[in-house]
Amino acid sequence: MTAPPLPPDVEPVPELAALGFLAYTTTRAFGSLGTATDQPVRDVMARWRTVTDHLGSLGVARLATAAQVHGAQLLVHQPGWTGWLRGSAADGHVCRAGLRTAAAVTVADCVPIFLAHPSGACALLHSGWRGTAGRIVQAGVDALAALGCPAGELTVHLGPAICGDCYEVGPEVHARLTGRVPPGPAPVDLRALIAEHASARGVDRISVSAACTRCDNGRFFSHRAGDPGRQISLIAPGPALLA
Ligand SMILES: [Zn+2]
Repeated sequence: MTAPPLPPDVEPVPELAALGFLAYTTTRAFGSLGTATDQPVRDVMARWRTVTDHLGSLGVARLATAAQVHGAQLLVHQPGWTGWLRGSAADGHVCRAGLRTAAAVTVADCVPIFLAHPSGACALLHSGWRGTAGRIVQAGVDALAALGCPAGELTVHLGPAICGDCYEVGPEVHARLTGRVPPGPAPVDLRALIAEHASARGVDRISVSAACTRCDNGRFFSHRAGDPGRQISLIAPGPALLA
């Protein structure tokens, strides 16, 4: 299947392009898309406009985002609107096949979780330690299963995020994530945990980006490195799925 064209300065997801999806994470070179920084609104909105213009050029007239709250609530999107949706209090988006809708999450160390089905159904989740402890990936898998896309047919990709060597958490958070209480602060690999959760729910095809937002801080924004900026991860049906 022909991979959709990409905007500049993004990290693509080849595993999902092979299924006909547009899927990427923006980089520091793209610029921050965070809406809670001191950057001029004019500049941040111009970058979002780059995103929506590119989607429009592919025939995708809807972009769904949400105010992220580190929960496990997902928005299952419905037809009947166009433009840019800013949903309230949610950390994931679920789109059935044929909905012609893009979804984006804002990240800088938290894990962007892409879920895709060959039919064109997809989901995109934001998972920090709270979302991971709440097994948000399993909520995404279940939501797609409810739309007729069983776990065994899904491809899951975990995008650029802080790696297990760079992410240290206190004993209480570690215990909530792993069930084990270390004697002091200890490292934890969120993407490894999320992959375990997805696998336990029946997902066979799981890939993980080699990029760490902190190790690769020249390429990505990192909250723990002190960056106020944010990248986005985005998924949308590409031309082959819209035909
Ligand atoms: Zn790292």
